[in-house]
Amino acid sequence: MMVVFIGPPGAGKGTQCRRLVDLLRIPHLSTGEMLRAVMREESALSRWLASYIDAGKLAPDHLVMRIVAQKLQSDECKPGALFDGFPRTIVQAQLLDDYLMEHHRPLDVALNLQVDEEILVERLLKRAQIDGRADDNYETIRERLKVFRTQTSPLIDYYSKQGKLESIDGAQSEDQVFEDIQSIVMRLQQRA
Ligand code: ADP
Repeated sequence: MMVVFIGPPGAGKGTQCRRLVDLLRIPHLSTGEMLRAVMREESALSRWLASYIDAGKLAPDHLVMRIVAQKLQSDECKPGALFDGFPRTIVQAQLLDDYLMEHHRPLDVALNLQVDEEILVERLLKRAQIDGRADDNYETIRERLKVFRTQTSPLIDYYSKQGKLESIDGAQSEDQVFEDIQSIVMRLQQRA
């Protein structure tokens, strides 16, 4: 199964993805994690990437697609993949659609986790105290939410037009959110 997970920073995508990969037995492809792994290396590329990410901006579309495509070629992704934090722009969504089309593995569903901005800021500031991630400070959080609003939220319309969008209320408890996701997945599996 090929699944895209859309949601603003702090919506709880990471937590739900971890539970969903156990359920579906497909690998979790988090572009945020992949990019942070690149940034841990000492290289010109990592410094260049950090100039985007530490400022709360998006990494360049083609670079992100290249990293994702490399992963998709591995055997591990034969049963499918759960994309977390990708695509984040319409260009990335088109690049992904083209790639999946060429490989005859179309996307099954785009899960859209919705949460109000005030709740998101609160959650992210709390996370900043726990993990100390460089991009979890007030200014960067505001910037990332703006980036989501302007660049990523158009994907909701994009996937809705393809008839692939399923929205979930992310302000509910973690367990309730997961129950909603499970029922969507079960419905899709029955249809297949
Ligand atoms: P969050 O969900 O909290 O925003 P992520 O770990 O998904 O955290 O992403 C952290 C940062 O990595 C983003 O703010 C962005 O700079 C970069 N990033 C992650 N995924 C992408 C992507 N698909 N395209 C461009 N930049 C990305």
